[in-house]
Amino acid sequence: MMPALFIGHGSPMNAIEDNTYTRMLSGLGEKFPRPKFILVISAHWLTNGSFVTSMDKPSTIHDFGGFPKELFEVNYPAPGNAATAKLVQELLGVRADKSWGFDHGTWSVLKHLYPAADIPVLQLSIDKNLSLQEHFNLGQKLRKIREIEGLVIGSGDIVHNLRALKWGSDVAPYEWALEFDLLAKEKIRQRDFKYLIEDVLSTEAGRLSNPTLDHYIPLLYTLGPSVEDDELFFEYEGIQNGSISMTSFRFE
Ligand code: ZN
Repeated sequence: MMPALFIGHGSPMNAIEDNTYTRMLSGLGEKFPRPKFILVISAHWLTNGSFVTSMDKPSTIHDFGGFPKELFEVNYPAPGNAATAKLVQELLGVRADKSWGFDHGTWSVLKHLYPAADIPVLQLSIDKNLSLQEHFNLGQKLRKIREIEGLVIGSGDIVHNLRALKWGSDVAPYEWALEFDLLAKEKIRQRDFKYLIEDVLSTEAGRLSNPTLDHYIPLLYTLGPSVEDDELFFEYEGIQNGSISMTSFRFE
């Protein structure tokens, strides 16, 4: 089976920066076989209902404002794949989409992971109306994707509080950010998914770390397709901007 990855994508600026996190991404693809296709669940595509991108040439979406021009010029020209999209539709009972493309939750990661952009990439949207349990259940169906040599990537952040965000490369993490990041890693290690689904907001640290759940939900699409026999590798650990966890891991 192909791995299932969770990538804490952090600021869009990581797409054009060179730091320990982007260097981790650049070397990550050498640790496992080349996938036939990639399915990304990004925190930045929230919809009513679930959709999978089905166009042959997805566009690069610059879904942010106030960043340097250089970031708006990034293009990630990977192809889509209509046949694979059809398969995902049938597997998950989701609908085809022709209007999205790649948002920065996808391309800011893949630009480093697969810079040649020569592997077909699909995005699966996050249905705003589902509970965390329902997201996890949908994620479990993605085991099949791993079996047919597809790489599943959940792209979000385990800790994501934009209101508390501090700019600068050497700002100290908030205590609550460190606390929840550590707790979540422990629960992932123990495969205590019940906690991660039902109790994420049960502590003050959990609530401060996730004032909204959009960046947390992709985690459930990485936990879902994992199996008992998988090994767990934490590929990166750290907090950017005080309140954004860059924790990234791989089940394989
Ligand atoms: Zn984001």
